[in-house]
Amino acid sequence: MKVLVVNAGSSSLKYQLIDVDSGEVIAKGLCERIGINGSKLTYKPTGKGTHEFERDMKDHTDAIQMVLDALVDKEIGVVGSMAEIDAVGHRIVHGGEKFSKSAVIDDDMLKEVESLTDLAPLHNPANLMGIRACRAIMPDTPMVAVFDTSFHQSMPPEAFLYGLPYEAYTDLMVRRYGFHGTSHFYVSQRAIAKLDMPAEQTRVITCDLGNGSSIAAVKGGKCIDTSMGLTPLEGVPMGTRCGDMDPAIVTFLMEKLDLDTAGINTYMNKKSGMLGISGVSSDFRDLGDAAQKGNERAELALKTFAYKVKKYIGAYAAALGGVDAIVFTAGVGENDKGVRARILEGLEYLGVDVDFEYNMHAPRGEEVEISKPGSKVKVFVIPTDEEMVIAKDTAKLTAK
Ligand code: AMP
Repeated sequence: MKVLVVNAGSSSLKYQLIDVDSGEVIAKGLCERIGINGSKLTYKPTGKGTHEFERDMKDHTDAIQMVLDALVDKEIGVVGSMAEIDAVGHRIVHGGEKFSKSAVIDDDMLKEVESLTDLAPLHNPANLMGIRACRAIMPDTPMVAVFDTSFHQSMPPEAFLYGLPYEAYTDLMVRRYGFHGTSHFYVSQRAIAKLDMPAEQTRVITCDLGNGSSIAAVKGGKCIDTSMGLTPLEGVPMGTRCGDMDPAIVTFLMEKLDLDTAGINTYMNKKSGMLGISGVSSDFRDLGDAAQKGNERAELALKTFAYKVKKYIGAYAAALGGVDAIVFTAGVGENDKGVRARILEGLEYLGVDVDFEYNMHAPRGEEVEISKPGSKVKVFVIPTDEEMVIAKDTAKLTAK
C-alpha cells in the first residue's frame, strides 16, 4: 500500500511517498515559499538523484499539484498514475482532547479540527490548507489525520492540569497537551522492543531534542507526562523559545519593555532560548563551535540546556517510579554527542552507566546503545521516523 505523507506549514509543505508494506520511502521532498515569490519544489525519488523546480506556487493546491506531477512524471516519476497512491496521511499539530487517536478525514472531522484553531493558531490552519489542497486534487483518495498531541492524551489529570481555576480547563481548554507525540511514540516503541522485559512494565524517558525540544515519560508504552504544555513553548529552553519560567515574568516584561501580547509572544518564542542566552545562534552546531572558541555565553546556553533536560529526566524518573531506558532523538539528540554527554553526566545515582567514549564515536543515523552492557538503565540514540508512523496509521485506518 502506497501512502503519501503530507506535513503542511504556512508557506512550506514536506512530503514522502511510502510503501507501507516494505517500509521503503519511494520519494520525498519539500515545497518552499508557497504563496511567496521564488517558490521551489525539491523532489528526491529514492536512488534517482535530487531534482529542483522553481515555479510559482500561489497556494497549497499549486504545491500539491506540482508534487503529484513530479511523482507521475514519465522520466523522473515513481508511480504510473495518481491512482497508485492509495491514501494520504496528514500531520496535524493540535488535536485538543477530541483526538486521542488518528482519524479518517471527512467534513465533520475537519469542522472539529477547525474548532481547535485557538489552541494552535499558527499551525493548525496551515495543516488544514494542506488537507484542503489534497482533497481538491484527489477527491476520491482516502485521507487520515495524525495529531502531534494524540500520544500524550493518556496523561492523567494530575499531570495535565495546571494550578489554575478548574474553569480554565473546563471552559477554555487550558491544560497540558504536549507535542512531538508521533516521535515520542515511535522512539519509545523502538526502545521497548530492545528492553528484555514485559512491555507493560517498561519505564522509558524519551528526549526529542531539536530546534524545538520535548521530553516524555512513557510507562508501559503510554505517555504519563511530557514537558510541552498548552503550546510548544513550555519545557526546556529551545532554539528560540524560552521554555519554563515564572509566569509572573510575562507581565513584568510586558510592563518594563512596553510589549503588547504579540510583542511578548515574539520575545518568548523567537528571541529567547539558546539564541537569547547565547546571543550567537539558535543552532546547536553554531553554539558548539562558538563555545569551543571560548564564547562564554554560547557555553552558558549549552550548559543551561543540558541542566534543564537533566532536571526533567530526574523528575520523570520520580513520576515513573524508576527508569529502564532513556532515549535521545531528533536533530540535537541524534547528532550532538557533546550535549548528550553533558546531560548524562552525573546520572549514575539513577543506575545510568554511560560509555562516554563510545557516545563520542557512535555511528550516526542508526539505532545505537550508548550505555555499558551492565547498565541498569539503557541509554539509546534512536533516529525518529514520524513519517513512518503517519503512513502506518493511515494504512491501518484506510485498508479496504
Ligand atoms: P531538528 O529540529 O530536529 O531538525 O533539529 C535541529 C537542530 O539539530 C539544530 O539546532 C542543529 O544544529 C542540530 N543539529 C543537527 N545536526 C547536528 C550535528 N551534527 N551536531 C550538532 N547539532 C546538530
